[in-house]
Amino acid sequence: MIDPHRLTSVFLDLVRIDSPSLGEKGVADHLKARLSGRGYDIRIDDANLSTGGDTGNVIVRVPATGPGDPMAFSAHMDCVPPCLGVTPVLDNGILRSSGNTVLGGDDKAGISAILEALFHLEEERIPHPDLYLLFTVCEEAGMFGAKGLDFSRILAREVVVLDACGDVGTIIVRAPAKAGLKVAFHGRAAHAGIEPEKGISAIQMAAAAISRMRLLRIDEETVANLGRIEGGGPTNIVPDSATLTGEARSQSETTLMNQIGHMRGCCMDAAREFGGSCDFSFDISYPAMHVPQESALLGRALHACERLGLVAAVKGTGGGSDANIFSGHGLSCINLGIGMSRVHTTDEFIRVADLIKTARLTAELMQS
Ligand SMILES: [Zn+2]
Repeated sequence: MIDPHRLTSVFLDLVRIDSPSLGEKGVADHLKARLSGRGYDIRIDDANLSTGGDTGNVIVRVPATGPGDPMAFSAHMDCVPPCLGVTPVLDNGILRSSGNTVLGGDDKAGISAILEALFHLEEERIPHPDLYLLFTVCEEAGMFGAKGLDFSRILAREVVVLDACGDVGTIIVRAPAKAGLKVAFHGRAAHAGIEPEKGISAIQMAAAAISRMRLLRIDEETVANLGRIEGGGPTNIVPDSATLTGEARSQSETTLMNQIGHMRGCCMDAAREFGGSCDFSFDISYPAMHVPQESALLGRALHACERLGLVAAVKGTGGGSDANIFSGHGLSCINLGIGMSRVHTTDEFIRVADLIKTARLTAELMQS
């Protein structure tokens, strides 16, 4: 049986351990200790060589006790600030922090549910295929743990990520690709009072470029935003530099590239017209996630919800997660809503009832 008491106590233990991005070692060690001596293969990889953090990802292989293809279950160990010294409070079936920090249910609720589901299967001797548990680092900072994961060692082709908001039964099947971009306009400085005609204003260039850009909501699946504009100096100097920092996201990678091409074109045209120059750079922060309707994993998740009496809601989201990275590596992947609420704020909370539902759903998906 899913044991609410054990589940809650695993959760409380986890949220009491500090684990900011790059500082997840306490949680990694705790999980290693908790899972050792049970016949699992537990490894901590060297993702920290690229992240610079104090630990790598925790990868646990639980040997099969029944038939079926290997499956992976994943949740991240890090939390967003303020997350040091979390003092959880259990009040009327609701878990929250004492108010000065986040709770860290994002994503320790996911970790707790995975552990409880596994303990439950073992106690009841319910057969399951080979299971991989992927507890990642640095998700919140840009999915750097998942990006550094050695996928050749994970034989599962299907990954269930437990890291979405929404009621239990929410199944995220679409998430956009995201590109970060930076533009530097170069003009020519001149005294603004004496000979401004000898100058080229980088600020004017940037303004002209921005005024022609399609921004914010581009279409149903595409958005773009400039988040920061910097440049210039004293008012008596024609400014010779200005920079823009922005991002674009789309469910369609083609549309994303078109949007970036459009933004780049506006910048280049403006630079040329003013006689200056422009450096435009971008990088893809993460690829899109798109689970086809006929996905076997999605089908199993829908059945599991039905068996448990959960209302399934198949949805897209505007944000990225480790699920995007796993999808980008060709794994079939869904991201489950686990009932965590007001995440990334000090008002974050989760209901014990949702922890239990998530553990039940996870156990259902784990079994052969
Ligand atoms: Zn999360």
